[in-house]
Amino acid sequence: MQVALVTVGDELLAGDTVNTNAAWLGQRLADRGASVERVVVVPDREADIARVVNELRADYDAVLVTGGLGPTHDDLTMEGVAAAVGVPVEEHDDAVAWITDHTDYEHADLVEGTTHLPKGSRMLPNPEGVAPGCVVEGIYVLPGVPDEMEAMFESVADEFSGAYRHVRTVEADEPESALVDRLAEVRDRFDVTVGSYPGDHVRIKVQSTDEDELERAVSWLSERVEPTSN
Ligand code: ATP
Ligand code: MG
Repeated sequence: MQVALVTVGDELLAGDTVNTNAAWLGQRLADRGASVERVVVVPDREADIARVVNELRADYDAVLVTGGLGPTHDDLTMEGVAAAVGVPVEEHDDAVAWITDHTDYEHADLVEGTTHLPKGSRMLPNPEGVAPGCVVEGIYVLPGVPDEMEAMFESVADEFSGAYRHVRTVEADEPESALVDRLAEVRDRFDVTVGSYPGDHVRIKVQSTDEDELERAVSWLSERVEPTSN
């Protein structure tokens, strides 16, 4: 399953907030065998959210959107997602019922818009907060607050699946440029994907859906690179 992430927020673009939601979702989705193919950061602007979500939903099996769910003036995600699928936002009965039953808020006390979701969507309760999320046409809309986003994702995690990719890491005490031929050869010889990540030494990440094939590739490679001293 191929997934795109859209993280919404001016503060992410300005660098005021680090985009930990994208990193967390990337790891959780990979754990489940779903592969994240795009991460896009967009401003708190309805037209931008609508355009990007609409483009990505055409190309991927699911789109996960985080941020901009609350009822304040800069929370425009529900409007953007609704525009992307061509429906209005409207008060959602399940959202009203959930908030009345599970939070200290009475419906009348909520800021106008809190329970408004794209028409025809499935409401996702927010066990760590108030503003609900939703699912509509393969688009999953989750909160921006990391604790809330994580709890809501777990409630739909089962809907994301794929062939689990086993991962092994080989560390090489050589310049990355010197490894080019061996990295190409291991990919030729074995059914694996290979990523190389330079730092103090080069971390070579080898992945495969076939665990035995992965072991063969890792032993082949380990015998041919300079090991690190630690
Ligand atoms: P609220 O209902 O509280 O307004 P929200 O779902 O509307 O929440 P935002 O208003 O977009 O979410 O962001 C709420 C908080 O979560 C902010 O402090 C923001 O910096 C943080 N946040 C938003 N997006 C991300 C992200 N991608 N990674 C990490 N933190 C984020
Ligand atoms: Mg907000």
